[in-house]
Amino acid sequence: MNTPYFVIDADRLEANLKVLRGVMDHTGCKILLAQKCFSCYGLYPLISKYLCGATASGLFEARLCHDEMPTGENHIFSPAFDERDIDEILSICDHIVFNSPRQLSLYGKRAKEAGLEVGLRINPECSTQVGHAIYDPCAPGSRLGTRLSEFQQMTSQQLDLLDGLHFHTLCEQNSDDLKTTLDAVEEKFGKYLNRMKWINFGGGHHITREDYDIPCLEQCIRRMQREYGLEVYLEPGEAVALNAGELHCKVLEVQAQGNDGVTNVIVDTSAACHMPDVIEMPYTPPVITPQAYIVPDGKQIEGAYRLGGPTCLSGDIIGIYQFTEAVHEGDEVVFGDMAIYSMVKTNTFNGMPLPKIYIRRDKNLTLWKQFCYEDFKSRI
Ligand SMILES: *Cc1c(COP(=O)(O)O)cnc(C)c1O
Repeated sequence: MNTPYFVIDADRLEANLKVLRGVMDHTGCKILLAQKCFSCYGLYPLISKYLCGATASGLFEARLCHDEMPTGENHIFSPAFDERDIDEILSICDHIVFNSPRQLSLYGKRAKEAGLEVGLRINPECSTQVGHAIYDPCAPGSRLGTRLSEFQQMTSQQLDLLDGLHFHTLCEQNSDDLKTTLDAVEEKFGKYLNRMKWINFGGGHHITREDYDIPCLEQCIRRMQREYGLEVYLEPGEAVALNAGELHCKVLEVQAQGNDGVTNVIVDTSAACHMPDVIEMPYTPPVITPQAYIVPDGKQIEGAYRLGGPTCLSGDIIGIYQFTEAVHEGDEVVFGDMAIYSMVKTNTFNGMPLPKIYIRRDKNLTLWKQFCYEDFKSRI
């Protein structure tokens, strides 16, 4: 088949959805899809069989939920809404979460009048992440969420607008960190929780990862339900589509061994264009076919290959791998865990073609999207 292409594994997606549904069934909480992570709306019908709806980062994602997941709840959060978008947002969403008391004053009353439930994102100032400062909304100077010191200055009219509180502080974390965060939320904002209808735990919960402690998550949910009579929302992105996607590419050239002993291989996909988180986060994606192992940073391994894209960027490196067999031109290489934050972030830098998207169900592949020169040209 013509590389490069993504494959979304609908069976694997459904297995994840069943785990999330289990948490909902055990506790009565509501789980939403964070569309910014995975917006392949061809699978929204499947997702809406299991989850309660979706959350959006802005008008376009909210519209996508409205169009493609019409039976689900449609939530939206933005650090700052734009007056130009607000009427449409209020006509299609049922929950809106503001980032600051100022935004709440600007739009809260209109949202209530339009029949939406209104929330405020809080910043519990409790960092539980190590290493990923760009993913830590509790880092010093963060613009995300209202700190207690600002919250305490809100007027009773502002407080009366609120149906719920929202926090989002985690990234690929387990439920022990959620528990730590919840302690901070309770300590700081506990006295406001009794007057709320719901609390939203945000995303970053790696619920479908093998070592995730689901009973501890369920205890956290029950604690908020029991102590404060709250409805609990979670809005994971990664956990929905974890390990449910692949990116297939082809080896264009195996170069002569480089001056660091590693052999450069050029493939017809690109870290910069097709999996930008490899560079941005950064991380090294697993190669699932043929058999290969990631070579850890700084380690010298005889016969290792460095896979890179055909773009101008020296740093367009996917990773260094040790393969069990020699790599040849024309070989297909498959990267794993490519459903999350890859398809939503692709770009056409250097005029790179966008990978096609297939959906796999019961081992059958169906072409869902393909792209061409016009997709590149129309964005310029
Ligand atoms: C990114 C984000 C999510 C989803 O996070 P994942 O790490 O993909 O689970 C949910 N809510 C908000 C507000 C976010 O910014």
